[in-house]
Amino acid sequence: MAIATVNPTTGETLKTFEELGPEEIERRVDTAAEAARRYRTTSFAERARLLGAAADLLEEDQQDIARTMTLEMGKPLAAARAEAAKCVKAMRWYAKHAEGLLADEHPAEADVKDSGAVSARVRYRPLGVVLAVMPWNFPLWQVIRFAAPALMAGNVGLLKHASNVPQTALYLEDLFRRAGYPPGCFQTLLVRSSAVEAVLRDHRVAAATLTGSEPAGRAVAAVAGDEVKKTVLELGGSDPFLVLPSADVDRAVRVAVTARVQNNGQSCIAAKRFIVHTDIHDVFTERFTALMDSLTVGDPMEESTDIGPLATEQGRDDLAALVDDALRHGATAMCGGRRPTEPEALTKGWFYPPTVLTGVTPGMRIHHEEAFGPVATVYRARNLDDALRIANDSPFGLSSNVWTRDEEEQERCVRDLEAGGVYFNGMTASHPAFPFGGVKRSGYGRELSGHGIREFCNATTVWHG
Ligand code: NDP
Repeated sequence: MAIATVNPTTGETLKTFEELGPEEIERRVDTAAEAARRYRTTSFAERARLLGAAADLLEEDQQDIARTMTLEMGKPLAAARAEAAKCVKAMRWYAKHAEGLLADEHPAEADVKDSGAVSARVRYRPLGVVLAVMPWNFPLWQVIRFAAPALMAGNVGLLKHASNVPQTALYLEDLFRRAGYPPGCFQTLLVRSSAVEAVLRDHRVAAATLTGSEPAGRAVAAVAGDEVKKTVLELGGSDPFLVLPSADVDRAVRVAVTARVQNNGQSCIAAKRFIVHTDIHDVFTERFTALMDSLTVGDPMEESTDIGPLATEQGRDDLAALVDDALRHGATAMCGGRRPTEPEALTKGWFYPPTVLTGVTPGMRIHHEEAFGPVATVYRARNLDDALRIANDSPFGLSSNVWTRDEEEQERCVRDLEAGGVYFNGMTASHPAFPFGGVKRSGYGRELSGHGIREFCNATTVWHG
């Protein structure tokens, strides 16, 4: 993919960028390694000061960077502003808490004695240069979610951002530079995915994190495995949204719509499969379809728009193919299901309407694949066992949502849902204090919280005889 800003609302190429050559990449990796040697010795207070300064600048830039994101990948402007605000919050959270999260750990006195030591502790030390391969769907947040803890832990970052968000990628490098970080602490590499392997194999790069598709994750993890380097992978999801008879159905419907169409439906933690108990299936489906169908699809710069275009033409075509496959094999489109042919404005960009599918069976691709756009599938479950069976019948295991007020049902779900999160009577949303990540093909490792910051640390045993 060429490195370019292409407006998904119109299909127009607005700006193209030269890819960095091997010499420039070498220079930047070297700068990163040099920065890592010095930056690792800074105090938590100094790191917090720098991250706080970056957060303040981002807060000032909120309107401008929101417009850039909307221009590059089509999310509604209000969502882009909210994304910037979420980044500011996470940066301040890590600036405040990192020192406590990485404080020396002291094993139990009896165990220290048993080891023959006078004293012993665990110190979390940085790994060094971490390569971040990031996607376009939350072009600020995905990067900050990595960068804030990594920088607070004393690591430095090299960003290979998605090729369709180069202006956001360059903004991030500039943000950290303006905040006063020493040169090399955070750099953007404007390169295509084919350049990632050489960077990752470089002995000066210690580890990698990737958020994106399964093929991209597999490629990066294979190289990292060959080089014996640590990776964290946050890949796709096809999160289940269970609605059981004790649920407040109207609230569940409202949240279901938001959970499905947030970010034009292009979120890994969006609820994608709605698994509804047979007693309330018909009423849920009817209200859910009506609300999905009432959403406004249009220009994401307009405040009244609920759903903008998909970020890339390929993404729109992949989604349409997934729906077409389901319809060909007998699914029913309760609403949507066809790319718009009018008005003219919607035919230029990469729009797809909110779509609700029923009658989905395991023979259809959409049953097993991630629908990265505003397309929901609704399943009928006979009882809780059946709902859990359908929920777990997926290669993915990122998060899950369950609507029930029954405590026994809640405990069953915590025990049995194959996912990195179980959210009751609400929708999945990441928060700096909670670990974020999945099981199965959704990846491994965790971001955010203490778990996230320790992923790129060397947990060092310090033993005194
Ligand atoms: P990709 O996974 O292809 O892109 C994510 C990042 O990985 C980009 O920076 C991309 O660079 C890079 N990349 C891609 N292939 C490789 C590779 N072989 N080696 C190293 N880096 C690589 O996502 P797409 O944009 O193609 O989206 C496809 C699907 O991925 C979506 O439909 C969705 O299912 C899933 N996805 C999931 C996301 C999530 O949040 N978990 C986010 C985005 C996508 P470049 O842009 O240059 O190709």
